[in-house]
Amino acid sequence: MPHSHLIKPVLNDTYPEIDYGKGVYLYDKEGTQYFDACSGAVTANIGHGMEEIVQAIATQANRVSFVYRSQFSNEPAEELANHLAKETDFPWCFFVNSGSEAVETAIKIAIQHWQEKGYASKTKVLSRWLSYHGITLGALSASGHPARRERFHSMIGDWPVVEPPYCYQCPFEKEFPKCNLQCARQLETMIKRMGPANIAAFIAEPIIGAAGGAINPPEGYYQKIKEICDKYDILFIADEVMTGCGRTGKFLAIDHWGVKPDIVALGKGLSAGYSPIAATMISERVMQPIIDGSNIVMGGHTYSANPLSSSAALSVLKLIQSEHWIEKVEEKSIYLQHYLKKLKNEFSFIDDIRGKGFLLGIEFKNNWNVLKAEVDASFTSYVVKEAQAGGVLLYPAGAGLDGKSGSAIIIAPPITTTKREIEELYRRLRSIFSIISSKVA
Ligand code: PLP
Repeated sequence: MPHSHLIKPVLNDTYPEIDYGKGVYLYDKEGTQYFDACSGAVTANIGHGMEEIVQAIATQANRVSFVYRSQFSNEPAEELANHLAKETDFPWCFFVNSGSEAVETAIKIAIQHWQEKGYASKTKVLSRWLSYHGITLGALSASGHPARRERFHSMIGDWPVVEPPYCYQCPFEKEFPKCNLQCARQLETMIKRMGPANIAAFIAEPIIGAAGGAINPPEGYYQKIKEICDKYDILFIADEVMTGCGRTGKFLAIDHWGVKPDIVALGKGLSAGYSPIAATMISERVMQPIIDGSNIVMGGHTYSANPLSSSAALSVLKLIQSEHWIEKVEEKSIYLQHYLKKLKNEFSFIDDIRGKGFLLGIEFKNNWNVLKAEVDASFTSYVVKEAQAGGVLLYPAGAGLDGKSGSAIIIAPPITTTKREIEELYRRLRSIFSIISSKVA
């Protein structure tokens, strides 16, 4: 019998096996407790081992676990679509299994929208550098993340064409508001250069996640972006895979800026990690030409609208609503930010603190990338490793404007985290950062 290996992110590394999770904590087989300060990959938004969700999944599994969407609909998927329509004000919904697929579906629907209206040349999708939209080839084409692109250049499109709204290290070396939002206005330059007749959509993460480390745009940025998109008949896709479903204190993060996208991609927090599911939400305006035209959306996967995953997501969203967790995010975020600022005052390697709600980021001082000889990794991966060894899980982020020098982490605990747990997180981070401080130059 050949020995089989589960492929892990770093092949020759060992990873502790998790035994179970409860609330903000995960426990491995050795009994080590971890404070999940990043909800895994910003996913376990309501914490681990929530009894109500486990029950809902078990009840659905007892009825039916799988039906094929070309043959049948099912109650949890229908109810979930209704729930999402009420939460987001987007009436149309396509269920898939991952954030990457939700982004790809958004791109395909944008292209199809224009085809059905008779504009077959509108096929390009534009995006920003310092972005991450997924690992499948279409979503990777949109992703301005050099390290994740480099092996697949021959297979992916060059869609990132504009600079990110990254005031901390402005790509134009300007300052807000004197910059007059050059990062947003650059989109108009690119559209004119490439020809609006060739462009279907522009895609962006409302708050830059994995590639940036919870980067908020400057005020007025998204209003300007939407104005430019509308002026040139280009659809605006908001990739809310990381920011959506309440993570930032509103169901959709783009609502912080009062801008209505044409299509939204959701994932991660949609089922808060209880079962794989993601969704593409589409406006009436985008769907109408498709309904009037071919009346078919060319997409779908075997597990699309899966009853088990739909029931998991539905029970997560219902619980979030009945417990008013989203409404409590802002207040608790201020509390968490207060402690992150305390850490910044205590440790000189911490520079920028940013983000919104429970999607917060820390950028490290650039010169801290240079470490003492014992450390052979980037500062971010060093911090993440040390934190895990010290019992705190952090999410590595920051691709860097040059694709190499980014150095940030995301702190995104479950939105259910209590103030007492925030205080505990501060104490744990403080002792981890003290160890780091003693080890680095
Ligand atoms: N879009 C954004 C903004 C993300 O952060 C991610 C994942 O990190 C994705 C898309 C891809 O989602 P998935 O990993 O579920 O395919």
